[in-house]
Amino acid sequence: IKHIGVFTSGGDSPGMNAVLYAIAKAAEANGIKATGIRKGYEGLIDGDFMSLETHQLQKLVHKGGTILKTARSKRFMELEGRKKALQTLKINNIDALIAIGGDGTFRGLLAFSEICDIPFIGIPGTIDNDISGTDYTLGFDSAVNTAIENIDKIRDTAESHNRVFVIELMGRDSGYIAIHSGLVVGADAILIPESGRDFIYLLDKVKSYDSEDAFLIVVSEGDEIGAELLASKINEVNSSVDLRITRLGHVQRGGNPSALDRMLGIRFGVAAVEQLLNGNKNKMVGLLNNELYLTPFEEVVKQHQVNDELQKLLELFGK
Ligand code: ATP
Repeated sequence: IKHIGVFTSGGDSPGMNAVLYAIAKAAEANGIKATGIRKGYEGLIDGDFMSLETHQLQKLVHKGGTILKTARSKRFMELEGRKKALQTLKINNIDALIAIGGDGTFRGLLAFSEICDIPFIGIPGTIDNDISGTDYTLGFDSAVNTAIENIDKIRDTAESHNRVFVIELMGRDSGYIAIHSGLVVGADAILIPESGRDFIYLLDKVKSYDSEDAFLIVVSEGDEIGAELLASKINEVNSSVDLRITRLGHVQRGGNPSALDRMLGIRFGVAAVEQLLNGNKNKMVGLLNNELYLTPFEEVVKQHQVNDELQKLLELFGK
């Protein structure tokens, strides 16, 4: 392997720049060229490249987002788009690829492998932590830290006014951000799609709420009830509550990566280069029990469950 192409794809997540730094550093140490491909699969199709310089990237490790930019690509979903991407790789003598993204990005690489024989390694980059084969995805820890910092602020005002707050957090159809954040801010209730519980218990709790304190409900955007409907149900059972809805939204995707995400980025980036050099391909680098671990793309699926221990904590604290 002489020339690795690197791109970020799908949703951005804090820590992506740290990965790029690590890849550039590991490539340099092994005498390999590393080229950044801008805007995910779009840049792969169009040959939209930029150089990855370690001396520049080391100043960006602390920055959220991705300097390569990211995108979703309709063209790559079509065989024509993938053929064009293959041509671009050949013309530019790129003989290996590292993709940082979610399960969709890895499905894209699997489809690409049907026509392209160069090796690919994937790195799980999404705030949702919804990918099997790794305990943590890149950006999850930062997103949780952003969420708790903001919920702590909401608590200050909620307590001053004795208000009920419904706080909606990101995660798509995964409740990981909500359960982790809700537990550590001392939420009165946490609603996540994986729990399979209805919200009746919550209404009972709100019914007897005495309006003499804050009452914080953390709800995952993937939970079927949704913030608005939940708020109206609460008003139905207790019309005296002073209720507000806060959607944290995209603020959870931005900001400086946490120490954990920077370290994860460094470890994943170096491991991806090493795995390519070891002759591995079509696998995702992950971290299980603090050990680097490889999972074939075919086995990387969206996780829809929280483990038993988290479920127990949810029962104990979020009810
Ligand atoms: P996130 O979890 O942040 O959304 P993701 O990688 O899952 O990240 P997707 O939009 O699902 O994000 O996938 C990224 C891109 O991968 C898509 O825009 C598309 O170009 C490509 N892709 C996904 N699935 C396929 C597929 N089956 N065939 C070809 N390309 C695909």
